[in-house]
Amino acid sequence: HYNFSPGPATLPEAVLEQAQEELLDFHGLGASVMEISHRGPDFMALAEQAEADLRELMGIPDNYRVLFLSGGASTQFASAPLNLAAQGRPNIIDSGIWSSKAIDEAKRLTGVHVAASTKDGNYARAPLQDELVISDDAAYLHYTDNETIGGVQFDYIPQAIIGGQDVPVICDMSSSIMGREMDVSKFGMIYAGAQKNIGPAGITLVIVRDDLLARAPKAGIPTMLDYRTMVKTDSMYNTPPTFAWYLCGLVFQWMKRQGGIPAIAEINQRKAAKLYAAIDNSDFYSNPVELRHRSITNVPFILADESLNARFLAESKAAGLLNLKGHRSVGGMRASLYNAMPEAGVDALVDFMKAFERDHG
Ligand code: PLP
Repeated sequence: HYNFSPGPATLPEAVLEQAQEELLDFHGLGASVMEISHRGPDFMALAEQAEADLRELMGIPDNYRVLFLSGGASTQFASAPLNLAAQGRPNIIDSGIWSSKAIDEAKRLTGVHVAASTKDGNYARAPLQDELVISDDAAYLHYTDNETIGGVQFDYIPQAIIGGQDVPVICDMSSSIMGREMDVSKFGMIYAGAQKNIGPAGITLVIVRDDLLARAPKAGIPTMLDYRTMVKTDSMYNTPPTFAWYLCGLVFQWMKRQGGIPAIAEINQRKAAKLYAAIDNSDFYSNPVELRHRSITNVPFILADESLNARFLAESKAAGLLNLKGHRSVGGMRASLYNAMPEAGVDALVDFMKAFERDHG
C-alpha cells in the first residue's frame, strides 16, 4: 500500500518498525517511552539528540532556538503575532487557504497588512517578489512556503526592507519543511506542524532567531504561547507530547541515513517530475497551477470527466493507492508526496493513472 494522504501523512516504514520493536521496553527501562518522565535522563537525552539531528539536517545556525511545541501550526497563527508584532503589523502574503487562515487568526489579535494576494487568480500561483507591497510599520513578513490544499509552492524566499532594515521573514513550512534545502539564516522564524514530513501529529516545530524574542511584550501572552517561556524551559514548561517527540527523533535519524535533505530533495524532485509529466502528457488529467509554482509535495489533479471521480477513487484504493481524494474546496484528486513516500509509490500511481485512462478515456 502507498498512502498519499496530505496529513497526517505516511511515515517511513523503518521508523514505525523501530517504534514497534521498542514500544513496550524503551532502552531496557522496562517501560514504554510514553510512560517515562519527560524530565528523566532517558527522555532528556532523546530530546537533545532530536534537536542536534534537526540542527545538523537543516543547518540551523547557533543564534536560533528550536522549540518542540503542541497546538499545531494553527496555534502559531496566533503565537507569531502575539510574540512578534507588538511594535508593528504583521505583513502577510496570501497564496491560498492556509495563508488566509493565518491572516484571519492574526486579525483577531492585531491589525494586519496583506502584502499581496493571488486570490483573484484562484490561487493558481504564488505572488512574486516585485508584487509585494510592504507597510512602513511591518513587524514581519509572513508567507506559506507550500499551500498544501492548492498545491502552490514558492520558488523563492520573499524579502522586505523598511527604513534600511531587513524585515524578519516568518514562514509556515508545515507541508514543505525538510523536503528541500532551505537557508535557515534567511528567516526570522520557521514553524511547521510535524504530521507531514517530520512525524506524527501533536508536535509543532518552531525555529526562531534569538534577537526576535526581545520583541515580545512584557504582558498579555498566555504562558503556553510565550516563546520566552518555552525557550527557558527547553519546551518543557508543561508535559510535552513525548511519544510524538520521540517519533520525530526517529524520523530525523532516518533522514540522516538517507543522506540528509539534499539526497531526499533529489528524490522528491524526481517524484514530482514523474507525476506532473503523467498529468501534462494527457488530456484526461490536468493541474491548474503555473509551472514555476507547482508544489513538489502536494499535487492536485482533476479528471476531465469529473463523473469518473468516484470510480477513480474506488479503483485506486483497490490497487493499494490510498487517500487520493482532493480537498473538498478544490475537488478532484490530490497526491501528497512527502519525504516518506518512496519513488516506487509514484511509479505505481503513474501506472495506475495510465491504465485508468486507457480503460475510461
Ligand atoms: N499550514 C499548512 C501549510 C498546513 O498544511 C496545515 C495543515 O494541513 C496547517 C498550517 C495547520 O496545521 P495544524 O493542523 O498542525 O494546525
